[in-house]
Amino acid sequence: MKILVLNCGSSSLKYQLFDMTNESVLAKGLVERIGIAGSRIKHNRGSEESTVRETDIPDHTSAIKLVLGMMLDAGTGVLGSLDELGAVGHRVVHGGEKNDRSVLVDASVIKDIEDCTYLAPLHNPANLMGIRAMESALPGVPNVAVFDTAFHQTMPPKAYMYGIPYRYYEEDKVRRYSFHGTSHAYVSSRAASLIGRPIESLKLITCHLGNGSSITAVDCGRSVDSSLGMGTTPGVLMGTRCGDMDGSVVLYLMKKEGDVKRVSDILHKESGLLGISGVSSDLRDVEEAAARGDERAKLASDMLCSSVRKYIAGYAAVMGGVDAVVFTAGIGENSDLTRSEATRGLEFMGVRLDESKNRGLRGKEAFISRDDSPVKVLVVPTNEELMIARDTRRLSEKV
Ligand code: AMP
Repeated sequence: MKILVLNCGSSSLKYQLFDMTNESVLAKGLVERIGIAGSRIKHNRGSEESTVRETDIPDHTSAIKLVLGMMLDAGTGVLGSLDELGAVGHRVVHGGEKNDRSVLVDASVIKDIEDCTYLAPLHNPANLMGIRAMESALPGVPNVAVFDTAFHQTMPPKAYMYGIPYRYYEEDKVRRYSFHGTSHAYVSSRAASLIGRPIESLKLITCHLGNGSSITAVDCGRSVDSSLGMGTTPGVLMGTRCGDMDGSVVLYLMKKEGDVKRVSDILHKESGLLGISGVSSDLRDVEEAAARGDERAKLASDMLCSSVRKYIAGYAAVMGGVDAVVFTAGIGENSDLTRSEATRGLEFMGVRLDESKNRGLRGKEAFISRDDSPVKVLVVPTNEELMIARDTRRLSEKV
């Protein structure tokens, strides 16, 4: 069975085509600047060099037609006919409280995604555009929605409630949802395999550290706490987002700037590594500047590592122990400095990093703790697309 996985943003579309007989990636690519001048598609077949085509792409329906065209094209294609496509899996950012697992898309699922738009105003409409465009391009081919929030629906109320009047939860479902659930589910299951124990017997802390970051306490395979919230600013310091924030600071900014949109931009787009360092939102640039002696860049990197360390210790307390800490995503998979600094000082709780295993390790599955470390520390590259493809196959086979 061949499965197409789509991740639609408001002006972009990422895709991967899987052959599920061996879970290999036949083709993948990115459509950028949909509806904006200069739109283009970058397509990769297997391990061949990318094909880039610049062409007018006014909307998601045209983007999907272009992707399907590339799949069939004599020069770039991997399909003899679109009939080979068994199903399409869609990353959907917000499933609200109702969607605690992946689902086959029907009219009621579309309504659910629409109903959650107030919780993810930038993402859910784009995800829906992808679903609708696929329905019209390939009628009869099942679509599956895989929600970024679903894995965290096992959090207990003491983890997801905010300490504000209860009516805001009752009336508007104001609560923590957290995100990157597909990534946390994937790396926790991979970590259990690598450790060689059933996930039902493990207490894991999964650190998805990228441009956006979240840390999750995974107890016996279930998310019991996670650092992102109703929105995407809380938790650890991120590329341009502020991380945990005193509500009074938000009120102060509101008074000073006098505009919700402006304050939202400050907290989402101008804060984090960028806001503190003044150098970049990209940790590579920040680490380079810090190594050259830039004090604010060093402060930004220290704040990131300190916030990760706090979550690791905090979530061990939440679960009453921890068997393994797992690092993933751009920073977690590649920054040995962050992994080293974020676990420094945690020896008291059994975390002993092996610097020789950690140093220089990039983008590969590996244990980076000492052999005698009671708590294992691992790097596991994430693969959200494969998780989406697996759920899509499981659900569409039932059709
Ligand atoms: P993601 O959002 O998962 O793509 O992660 C992007 C983040 O990963 C950016 O902040 C990059 O700076 C960071 N990153 C990627 N490679 C490295 C590296 N070799 N060292 C430090 N940070 C890295």
